[in-house]
Formats: sequence, C-alpha cells, structure tokens
Amino acid sequence: MRMEQKHCDATETLKKAGLTKTDQRVAVLDALIYADCPLKAGDILQRASRQIKINRVTVYRILSLLCDHKIVREMSFEHGISHYEMACVHNPVHPHFYCRRCGRITCLPPLTLSQAWDWLSQPSDFSVERINVQLIGLCADCRNNENSNSVASEGFIKTSGGKV
Ligand SMILES: [Zn+2]
Ligand SMILES: [Zn+2]
Ligand SMILES: [Zn+2]
Repeated sequence: MRMEQKHCDATETLKKAGLTKTDQRVAVLDALIYADCPLKAGDILQRASRQIKINRVTVYRILSLLCDHKIVREMSFEHGISHYEMACVHNPVHPHFYCRRCGRITCLPPLTLSQAWDWLSQPSDFSVERINVQLIGLCADCRNNENSNSVASEGFIKTSGGKV
C-alpha cells in the first residue's frame, strides 16, 4: 500500500538519473521519500524549508525535473491541484482514493494494476504516457458528517482504461 520499509536514498536517486546533487533537490526528494501520502507542492515547500532555504518557484522547477526523469509521479485530482509521490520500485503505480469533500488523497494497494505496466511496455494502438486511476467518494470522516446530514453517500470509479 505505502512504501515498504525500504526507502530510496535521495543522493543515490539523483546520481542514478545523472542529475547534479544540490541541497534543494535532496530536500525535495527527502520530503517525498518520507511522505506517507501524496504531497502538494506547498506541502513539499514546507517540509523542504525545514532542511534548507528554498522558494516555491524552485520547488516547482525541481518537481518538473524529477517528473521528467520519472523519479516522481504527478497526479491531478478533481480539484485540479497536482500531488506528487515517488515513482520508484518501492512505490509502483497504484490507484488513489480522493475524498471529494476534504481533498484527502489515500494510496491504495496496486491490485491488478500491475497490468498497467503491460500497456506501457508493450506496443499497442495506444501510446500510453500517463496512467491515472482515481476512486472518488467520501472518506470515513466526511461520510460520518454527511450521514448526520442524511445525505445519501455517493461514489464512483473513474479509470482511464482497464480494470482497477
Ligand atoms: Zn523508493
Ligand atoms: Zn474527507
Ligand atoms: Zn500513492
């Protein structure tokens, strides 16, 4: 579900990708490596700022670089705010649950999404560049609130193809 015990090492990750090591890049990577859920750029800025001096523009620039190198995965949910998580072996592609009320995003187990890798690696009529699977509804906290307002709970599954 979440990253296993093992974590990537920020320095090692940059080296493997052939990227220069800078304190800012390490701080951004550390924020993502030790996160227990996908983070917004603002969250990353806040966490990285505990380690070093960094501003929002630099965070976005580093995130875009890390996404280009497939080190980090960017996901957009209903509210349109990008969230980021590690795209390493410890954190293979998996579905996310998005609470449409509080915006909380939870990583879900990969399930049969391992099939998604086939779409990426095997030649087909589709040129898959990005996989985006989302389950949207209400998290436990919000469902309880909603039930007290006697509103029927609602949920739907949105996929960009294939089984979830
Ligand atoms: Zn890792
Ligand atoms: Zn919620
Ligand atoms: Zn996740």
